[in-house]
Amino acid sequence: MSMEQWVTKTFASDEPAGFGYGWISGTLSVFLGALSIFAVLCFRYPEYLVFEELRGKYPIPLMRAILELSIGLSFFLAFLSAMLRRKKVLAVTGILLALIAVALGGSDVPLGRYQGSERHFYLGLDWFILTLLVLTLVFVPMERLFPYRRGQSVFRRGWVTDLQHFFVSHLLVQLITYLTLLPATVIFAWLTGPQLQAAVQSQPLWLQFIEVMIVADLAEYAIHRTFHTTPWLWRFHAVHHSVEHMDWIAGSRLHLLDIVIVRGTTFLPLYLLGFAQPAVYAYLAFVSFHAVFLHSNVGGRFGWLEHVIALPRFHHWHHSSEQEALDKNFALHFPWIDALFGTKHLPRDRWPSTYGVLGYTLPEGWWAQLLWPFKRAGQSKPPHHAPET
Ligand SMILES: [Zn+2]
Repeated sequence: MSMEQWVTKTFASDEPAGFGYGWISGTLSVFLGALSIFAVLCFRYPEYLVFEELRGKYPIPLMRAILELSIGLSFFLAFLSAMLRRKKVLAVTGILLALIAVALGGSDVPLGRYQGSERHFYLGLDWFILTLLVLTLVFVPMERLFPYRRGQSVFRRGWVTDLQHFFVSHLLVQLITYLTLLPATVIFAWLTGPQLQAAVQSQPLWLQFIEVMIVADLAEYAIHRTFHTTPWLWRFHAVHHSVEHMDWIAGSRLHLLDIVIVRGTTFLPLYLLGFAQPAVYAYLAFVSFHAVFLHSNVGGRFGWLEHVIALPRFHHWHHSSEQEALDKNFALHFPWIDALFGTKHLPRDRWPSTYGVLGYTLPEGWWAQLLWPFKRAGQSKPPHHAPET
């Protein structure tokens, strides 16, 4: 039984999931209870669980207050759910998780030491909590208010796999950052020159930001298209395309090798050209939001704007499994880059009806998907976009 089947079976009920039936409160209670446990662990072991750059930078009293609120809410919402709902499994799970958070120290948990712990291997558990909280707060309401597919649940098929991808790629922030920077700082660093970098940096920051977006997207276009047309690379990228229901977390489904190669390739020209750090950081903030937004289940009509900057409909067509859309829309930010190279597909007012990979079914689960490209099952089939002969 897959983890998702187990979750579905355990929490399933014939009661409605809408407002007033204790489902929303129960789910929120479990969500906050689990995050509270993770947060307590971050307090205890910052050396091993907190993003190095953020250690010592958190306003601790505020963090404790938020943690206390989160544990309190988890209890409160669990009781609310228990009153409203016949099946109590959500409420009981929420209470259990909140109790574990309290047992581990709750909001009074002692802060572990982290001085002198540089150079350790660590996991970005705090990075996972923060990103998940922010993205959930932004995108879950946005997808409820402006959905393209009304009625698609947050817990649609494949969500556990996508959450696992989200979890691991945030935990491994140190390893991924290291591998991403490797081509630029170690392998190709000799390619650059101080004069070129000085000229680039002498421009105003806003101009550099626009240039960074264009340069990064041209690199993204090239490497993304290569992933689609090179059979051994496609096997890794097929993991990303195996998602069949698009929403904000669907974009997290990425093979580690895909993440590292794509990020490394897009970062390389930015580094060699020597763009100023604030411009590059602003771009990183933008791309982490934009990439999530592009996969989200957000509809709406945007007219000409859709052809200038990529919006969800543009990238949804990239994920379509319909013949007309295979191997189209490789750019992340600018549809006109695809237009330039003849790969743009954005039919007026239409959305794709099916998503996924043609020709084979990938397994669910992070481990299975990590190993899949190396297995014979993953290698025996041609790319989904191979021309029919
Ligand atoms: Zn792709």
